[in-house]
Amino acid sequence: MPASPLSPSFIAAAHRDVSATTGTTVPVTLPFTGEVLHELPRSSTEDVQDAYSRSRLAQLAWARAGFAHRRRVLLRAHDLLLDRAALLQDAVQSETGKTRGQAFEEVFQAAGVTRFNALAARGALRGGRRHSALPLVVTTRVRYRPKGVAGVITPWNYPLSLAAMDVVAALAAGCGVVQKADDQGALSILALRRAFIDAGVPAELWAVVTGEGGIIGAAVTEEADYVCFTGSTATGRRVAVQAARNLTGVSLELGGKNPLIVLDDVGPARAAADAANACFSAMGQLCVSIERIYVQRGVAAEFLREFGRVTGGLRLGAGFDHSADVGSLTSPAQLDRVRAHVEDAVAKGATIEAGGRARPDLGPFFFEPTVLTGVTAAMDCFAAETFGPVVAVSVFDTEQEAILAANDSEFGLNASVFAGSARRGLRLAGAIEAGSVNVNEGYRGSFSSVAAPMGGLKQSGLGRRNGPEGLLRFVDAITISRATGLIQLPRTGREFEALTRPMLLLARVLKTLRRR
Ligand code: NAD
Repeated sequence: MPASPLSPSFIAAAHRDVSATTGTTVPVTLPFTGEVLHELPRSSTEDVQDAYSRSRLAQLAWARAGFAHRRRVLLRAHDLLLDRAALLQDAVQSETGKTRGQAFEEVFQAAGVTRFNALAARGALRGGRRHSALPLVVTTRVRYRPKGVAGVITPWNYPLSLAAMDVVAALAAGCGVVQKADDQGALSILALRRAFIDAGVPAELWAVVTGEGGIIGAAVTEEADYVCFTGSTATGRRVAVQAARNLTGVSLELGGKNPLIVLDDVGPARAAADAANACFSAMGQLCVSIERIYVQRGVAAEFLREFGRVTGGLRLGAGFDHSADVGSLTSPAQLDRVRAHVEDAVAKGATIEAGGRARPDLGPFFFEPTVLTGVTAAMDCFAAETFGPVVAVSVFDTEQEAILAANDSEFGLNASVFAGSARRGLRLAGAIEAGSVNVNEGYRGSFSSVAAPMGGLKQSGLGRRNGPEGLLRFVDAITISRATGLIQLPRTGREFEALTRPMLLLARVLKTLRRR
């Protein structure tokens, strides 16, 4: 069993970067072995309040420093992320149990998010002139003002990518950040933050706090000028209710039960290999990974045979190198839920086509990637998110049937269509109710397209991260209009009488000119 390559000096430095004065700690486990990786300092609600006060002060100067300065600093951070890729991968693997390759995807994604926000912020947020109702008589400009300090709550499963998608956009928009890291992702987040501090982000501008969600997460929500929450739908709803009391804006990135439709014009072998990645990457502990597959009857038998073969052939393992295709689940709670979903399904008549067993011989939280058929609505894994390496495969006949089945969910986060004909795939993609739809990929197409918005429909969330939409979360739009004095705007009955006809004429002319 491999020990974590993280050095004691790295861990000690990370601990010093947590905003925590309680003197208490909590043990954090190395998923590969179940041993204690480190003792993470715990923050108090006072620590959260202090962090906000310091970030608020730092934010005033950061906002004044302007886009060009922020862009320079963030692009430097981008380079440091790449320089420190190996360390960041070590941290992500040590905390989540992912493979080296999946940890690399996180680093690559975090760097991409940083580059995008650094380069796009000015264009998205510089504001500018807008048409007024009375050309020349009134001029109007829009200015975007940073909201202040954002509260960011980040889960354990993708600590680098998810943190970057919220935090870097907030920084690029001129905001400060108080971030609550999950215990099981704190070292990764602190290593990410350190790169930004070394690049020139003021240390007080971005604070990291730790602690129980119901206490420290609630304190982060309470003080925030805007809240970015990533996590389960149940917790997201609680955060939204709390934020609503202060009329604080929120973006909620929540759960999913993501479908994949496999059409009968695909090559079954390639579709099976791509489906295995879509379902089992990061052990299915990814909000956008696939948990339901609907395969068209013409290719169903061959696809299922190949899918079982590919899944059974995946190399499970713990290692800080590229020796494994699939890693460990992250925690005992994850293992319990995955095992419970599989046992419940089997007890109610589902068939295991591949996997289905815990693998304590590899590490305490390993579980084989699992393919089920015969899953019915009576089973827990039918509609509820497993958030693990378990997928249910069903067969359909018509496209209409597949679309109805894919949309039959309270969630609407991500979906996928595998098609031989791109046209057919894109046509079906347009009919699916989800915030992102990928054709001939599980989720990586949209997830890595950081210039495009990401978010959920239905119970999968509110608001969007990434793209200009992700930046606009962190600003208030302020409209500034000026009466030029060219013509006095009407005030009295007499003035209205004089101007009514010219204004009606003006409205007709503006419409003819198609001026908005
Ligand atoms: P969770 O909701 O249990 O916890 C998420 C975070 O919220 C944790 O850091 C937790 O400490 C904190 N928290 C708990 N109660 C809180 C409260 N009252 N106020 C503020 N913060 C609180 O989720 P989890 O099990 O850690 O993560 C898995 C879930 O996250 C899955 O449902 C997954 O689909 C979802 N997720 C969604 C996305 C997305 O982008 N849509 C990304 C990753 C994970």
